[in-house]
Amino acid sequence: MFRRKMLPLLLLFHMQFSKAFPVPSAFQEEKSIHVVQSYLEHFYQLPRNSSKFERKNGTSVIVETLKEMQRFFGLNVTGKPNTETLEMMQKPRCGVPDHGGFLLTPGNPKWKQTDLTYRIINYTPQLSKADVEAAIAKAFEVWSDASQLTFTKISQGEADINIAFAQRAHGDNSPFDGPNGILAHAFQPGPGIGGDAHFDAEETWTKTSENYNLFLVAAHEFGHSLGLSHSSDPGALMYPNYAYSDPSTYSLPQDDINGIQALYGLSNNPIQPTGPTTPTTCDPRLTFDAITTLRGEIFFFKDKYFWRRHPQLQRVELNFISLFWPKLPSGIQAAYEDYDRDLVFLFKGNQYWALSGYDIQQGYPKDISNYGFPSSVRAIDAAVSYSSKTYFFINNQFWRYDNQRQSMDPDYPKSIASTFQGIESRIDAVFQQNNFFIFFSGPRYYAFDINGHRVTRVGSSIRWLNCR
Ligand SMILES: [Zn+2]
Ligand SMILES: [Zn+2]
Repeated sequence: MFRRKMLPLLLLFHMQFSKAFPVPSAFQEEKSIHVVQSYLEHFYQLPRNSSKFERKNGTSVIVETLKEMQRFFGLNVTGKPNTETLEMMQKPRCGVPDHGGFLLTPGNPKWKQTDLTYRIINYTPQLSKADVEAAIAKAFEVWSDASQLTFTKISQGEADINIAFAQRAHGDNSPFDGPNGILAHAFQPGPGIGGDAHFDAEETWTKTSENYNLFLVAAHEFGHSLGLSHSSDPGALMYPNYAYSDPSTYSLPQDDINGIQALYGLSNNPIQPTGPTTPTTCDPRLTFDAITTLRGEIFFFKDKYFWRRHPQLQRVELNFISLFWPKLPSGIQAAYEDYDRDLVFLFKGNQYWALSGYDIQQGYPKDISNYGFPSSVRAIDAAVSYSSKTYFFINNQFWRYDNQRQSMDPDYPKSIASTFQGIESRIDAVFQQNNFFIFFSGPRYYAFDINGHRVTRVGSSIRWLNCR
């Protein structure tokens, strides 16, 4: 719980006090050096006790290793432990290194047979035996559905893949670290310990969106048991950091399907499985589901992801919606910020949620009929608030809601084209900035001057993600 709850708070803190931020105390600096050093030792094979001044071919070993880590996660490659790097290092994750390491056998090993056995050596007291077995079986199914592999549970004898809950040092030179941080690890295919998966017994294991969902972590670890290493695709199951997805609708991402099929061939199923692909940030065809401001930042929603644009940062960060709000669905359709109440409202179908910063307010989701929409309105394309009025865009019409009176203004809906000249097609998303409505339709944006009543600028949507 602690680590993930901490993250949004830290981010908020940084956001609100970022103007006063630049001078870290000597203590903080000392602490960050420790965080960086131990992260790089663990996941990037930085030799233990490397000194800041140790050099190889004229460059500092720590700086070069830090750059490798920044490259893997798609951060700005500065070689400096800046805020975004430290934040990334503090996310809960898998204990297996990101680039071939001491846990991995060299030479990309794989199983010679496709019918594999597994055995659950012990259980966690936090879940019933049946729940653990169901989570483990489902985690194997993710991989058998996409390949020719089969998995059979045995309860005695020597299994290919042994599954155990263990804490701290447990005899494999890869001690666990207590709650959060490292959640689990697994060994690549091979005899003995090869293929085995270990789960940190000090984590809180769940079958829900609470930290940490055993099925999701197990599915990731079994990827290692089968011979896959970490992917730098933030949407992949084999991405090193934990992110929640709803297990009931889980489908193996395409990046992982490609990985397992590269090792074990196509599935026997006549129709090859396909999975979700991660949106590419600067793809010129990119479109958005919904956009809103949130206390000075801009959030761009797309499927189960969002990009977050901070006014002072060059890099726009791609994240899972569930990393910040585990209870929100993917596919948000509309969003706006109510500046007076300091709330953000998100819409999907006929439901909506209110967020205060990073917390979902009590009593949500609610039904959009609360705004006074007739029952014929089933979903909203885009929404934006300005000067205590909220505009809702639906097909070629829009409605205007009075935030203070808390009711729809009379004489709505009206036609979008007649009021917002220059906005001809259906709107995907809109937000407000400096007395402009920035409308998004397909891969283009339209800057509409609210006081001048006209479109003054048109461009490619991805300009807002700092793409050229
Ligand atoms: Zn891993
Ligand atoms: Zn272990």
